[in-house]
Amino acid sequence: MTRLRAIQSDITTLAVDAIVNAANSSLLGGGGVDGAIHRAAGPELLEECRKLGGAKTGEAKLTKGYKLPARYVIHTVGPVWHGGKKGEPDLLAACYRNSLTIANKQGFKTIAFPSVSTGVYGYPFELAAKVAIDTASEVIQKPSTLEEIIFCCFSRGDLSVYESLLSGVTL
Ligand code: ADP
Repeated sequence: MTRLRAIQSDITTLAVDAIVNAANSSLLGGGGVDGAIHRAAGPELLEECRKLGGAKTGEAKLTKGYKLPARYVIHTVGPVWHGGKKGEPDLLAACYRNSLTIANKQGFKTIAFPSVSTGVYGYPFELAAKVAIDTASEVIQKPSTLEEIIFCCFSRGDLSVYESLLSGVTL
């Protein structure tokens, strides 16, 4: 059985099988959590990312974690928020689904997600958290190697949003 859990942390400090990066489509680094992950992983991460040829919105690609305590990084490209009627929820759900599919194929037991798209990309936090939790809950209905899916929140306020949503989820 897979557990869903929310914590408040800097995702670059987590010793899990994989952390997810909220990347942009170039996969060549950027600001926010992306910049933090590249800084903590070191230049070899960028070198590997250059070979991936970018990614489309909703896709996910795997690299090693290099100097991070996490063994791997799954880079996914979240949608930019344009008001919610441009397919944003489906694209965000695809980020979570595709990242979890990679994790499962790799046999990972633990994965941590930042709140994809809720920084510079402007996705309203609570709406994004609902998509994240709903998609993860749906994925774990099927057999999975994952023991724990962590939603890594940057602020105390973000964590309380996840906590209240998760308390309403029956697993
Ligand atoms: P996006 O471009 O997908 O919106 P951002 O990196 O701007 O990505 O923000 C995504 C989320 O990651 C935001 O909720 C932000 O607060 C959070 N965040 C930023 N840095 C970190 C970090 N080091 N660890 C965990 N979450 C972070």
